[in-house]
Amino acid sequence: MAYFYDLPKIELSQLNDMGPASIKLLNQLGINNIAELLLHLPRGYEDRRLILPIAHIRPGQKYLIRVNVRDMQNMAGPKGGCNVLVDDESGKLSIRYFKLKTHQLGYTTASGPILFYGEVKYSARTGKEMIHPERLRATNAPGIVAIYPVCETLSQSRFRKWIAQALDLLSKDDPYHTLIKQIHVPDCIESVTLLEDFKHPAQVKLIIEELAAQHLKLFHVRRTQSLASARSLEFCQEQDKWIRQRLGFSLTGAQERVINEILADLYQSRPMLRLVQGDVGSGKTAVAALIATQALAAGWQVAVMAPTDLLAEQLYQRMQSWFEPSFVVVFLSGRLKKSERRVVHSLLQTSQPLLAIGTHALFQEDVVFSNLGLIIIDEQHRFGVEQRLALRNKAAKEAEAHVLIMTATPIPRTLSMSLLGDLDQSVLDERPPGRQSIITRLISLDRIDELCDRLHHHCQGQHRAYWVCPLIEESEVIPAQAAELRFDWLRNRLPELRIAIIHGRISAVQRHATMSQFQNGELDVLVATTVIEVGVDVPEATLMIIENPERLGLAQLHQLRGRVGRGADQSYCILLFQQPLSPMATERLSLLRQTEDGFALAEADLRLRGPGEMLGVRQSGLGQGRIADLERDAYLLEQARTRANALFEAPESEQSTILKFWTPHADEYSKA
Ligand code: ADP
Ligand code: MG
Repeated sequence: MAYFYDLPKIELSQLNDMGPASIKLLNQLGINNIAELLLHLPRGYEDRRLILPIAHIRPGQKYLIRVNVRDMQNMAGPKGGCNVLVDDESGKLSIRYFKLKTHQLGYTTASGPILFYGEVKYSARTGKEMIHPERLRATNAPGIVAIYPVCETLSQSRFRKWIAQALDLLSKDDPYHTLIKQIHVPDCIESVTLLEDFKHPAQVKLIIEELAAQHLKLFHVRRTQSLASARSLEFCQEQDKWIRQRLGFSLTGAQERVINEILADLYQSRPMLRLVQGDVGSGKTAVAALIATQALAAGWQVAVMAPTDLLAEQLYQRMQSWFEPSFVVVFLSGRLKKSERRVVHSLLQTSQPLLAIGTHALFQEDVVFSNLGLIIIDEQHRFGVEQRLALRNKAAKEAEAHVLIMTATPIPRTLSMSLLGDLDQSVLDERPPGRQSIITRLISLDRIDELCDRLHHHCQGQHRAYWVCPLIEESEVIPAQAAELRFDWLRNRLPELRIAIIHGRISAVQRHATMSQFQNGELDVLVATTVIEVGVDVPEATLMIIENPERLGLAQLHQLRGRVGRGADQSYCILLFQQPLSPMATERLSLLRQTEDGFALAEADLRLRGPGEMLGVRQSGLGQGRIADLERDAYLLEQARTRANALFEAPESEQSTILKFWTPHADEYSKA
């Protein structure tokens, strides 16, 4: 008999009817031991308490019947299969099996009454029929039955039998025994209603436990980090003066404050892990530049990583203009030729201070920095616990470099403590001066002609425009096609404008060329999918048209809008919506019209839609656990925090048991 927290130690092979093939299937479902098996919770339940007479059952629903077998016949032909005729006092029904032969069914006409559960269909030829119904035996007598999220190749009844065995391995004295059992084998239909909403006390207890374990993990990561050592950075006044002159503008109060917060971290002799949240256009790059200057002055190498080639190249150009020729600035992306890459690689291996800008290619296995002191990650959108830890690991490989993460995804304060507890956070909550606010308008798609006239007028002179087409229908038309259609339409409608298109299916080289043309003023309108979402900086682009904004999240819309309003002239954002708008969509779009403050939008979105759908939280991978799901369970965060605080006082061994149970991959990362 095992206790709940010992279950990860019990292997799946301990169960009956569990061979290597089954283990492989379970592994694919993320189930590697008995604990994970028992935490694979039902996705629903079926009420199989009532046996109905055949005469009373209706096609399209699932029923439990108790019948006698009257006749069994194998089908001819290569496909095989067989038919079975059954009846009860009220009527007849046929059962069809596609692959099995009669001798493989495990019952005969002499078997006596059998319980079958399955969906009833109607066939003109045979009347009521069931296809591959489940046969209930003594072990799964009528009752309420759990349905599991498993693949086709695994039958529900087999999975249920494994669960039953696993439950038997758990000691009856363990309070978790009752909890887990209530979830897998509910005793009454009232429980099922709660279970289906994930509000059953047993589920709630487990969810709180998992969220608490995630908190605990963050506590530990943070502590491990505070024990590690890194180089301390002395502030150099002279170089600071130099870079400020190069920038050519004076910093906002928020930029100054955030820079001081970062410098204070760097002065410590432990590795920094800080997240800077700043709305699009809040000037994160300048902050990065000032910090990088200090690191370079100290003789360190600095790596700056951007999520895409396009953004990395833009960043490279900007950094070059600020830092060269005083400092070496190199570029590294997957697109470089082998020979070019080799040159960069060998530069990084010398210990000379330099600024390396690039994509993920910066952290590939074969890249060796000999003197890396600071890593800056720009526009990071994914920062679930796992990603953060992986990143730390990467940094750790580089002798505890300091890490600075910058993102335009605002996480409301209500959540950030729980989700990002291991990160220090800074907020850039001020716009650079002289920036006009963007005028946002809602226009219905049936006024598109009017809009085209306006676009034509807008593009006389220096002004440029983006026209963004998101996904049309989930599976029907891919976004690239939507943009292509609009692109053709616009070229016909406005032949006098210079229009081009970029989307993910266009080659990187072509995309890059188009982007430069747009930047240089050789194009008037850029039709795009949401690939232009982050970071692209063209001050003369002052009109942003977004089609079907009702299909995008507030986060994406806010990011897209941030592509304009980057110069001194008045910018506009037109939300070209399709009628009718749902009340929710109306509210969200008008929120967008009323405010440009990303944090206010995030708080509003949290209130309107819950954290899962909120500005970027889903895409950031935050708050997803084995059972817990923040979209559903955010209301339990406070209780989880209390539980985590209590756990933190518990003996070390108990904490580590709990962590191993809920966050089994933590070990891979926690090495300091
Ligand atoms: P983001 O936070 O979106 O990365 P950027 O760093 O790209 O923002 O800054 C947006 C624009 O504002 C850039 O053109 C940048 O040079 C400019 N900028 C940044 N800080 C200031 C400032 N303090 N005063 C004036 N312009 C600034
Ligand atoms: Mg930026």
